Amino acid sequence: MLEVVTRDRLMDAAAELLLGACCVGCGAPGRGLCRGCGQVLQREPVHSVRGLSVPVVVAAHYRGVVRSLVLSAKERNGLALVIVLAGRLALAVAALVGAVEPPQPLWLVPIPSNPATLAHRGLDFTGSLATRAARQLRAQGLQVGVVRALRQRRRPADQSGLGVAERYSNLHHAYRSRGRPRTGSVIVVDDVITTGATVSEALRALALSGHDVVGAAAVAWTPRRGSGRR
Ligand SMILES: [Zn+2]
Repeated sequence: MLEVVTRDRLMDAAAELLLGACCVGCGAPGRGLCRGCGQVLQREPVHSVRGLSVPVVVAAHYRGVVRSLVLSAKERNGLALVIVLAGRLALAVAALVGAVEPPQPLWLVPIPSNPATLAHRGLDFTGSLATRAARQLRAQGLQVGVVRALRQRRRPADQSGLGVAERYSNLHHAYRSRGRPRTGSVIVVDDVITTGATVSEALRALALSGHDVVGAAAVAWTPRRGSGRR
């Protein structure tokens, strides 16, 4: 355990160096996230999103500081930012668990990264969020693990620029589930939910293999604006 903690701290320090000398939320001088942007993040509402076949809870609107944070965490491979965002994901999962009261243990199933994106970034962003959120939730006494039960069957086209219907058809049967269902409950987790097409496809694939999915949780949600949902 000591080794893990030490390594994490070293990686945090390295990540902060990589993040440069300005706040990723507002550009003010400083490292990582300034106090003001941190407070903006804290004030973001944890709330449920309707319209999918399972309960969905998100921990922010995908806009402003939150959007900058997510983009920076992805693009700069910033571990310190991943930890901050994982805290929001943990809040969303905890709220979902409070509402649904599913049987434990809970298994967080991250939406799989595109293999090409994974190779480019060197970071399984959603998987990393899930792992760190699970760690935070275990510290709160919940029995939580992460299972990478989803794989891409084929590579969907880039979702940006697609309309709602196009996004659903683009993701149709894009995932397959591997592994057997485990005792307990499954929660699908993602970084940002837009149309819900991604989560819906994940639910389909997991249900097909007999997983008991009790809900989905994400760091942030994009309120519907025309076709701009994922
Ligand atoms: Zn700031």
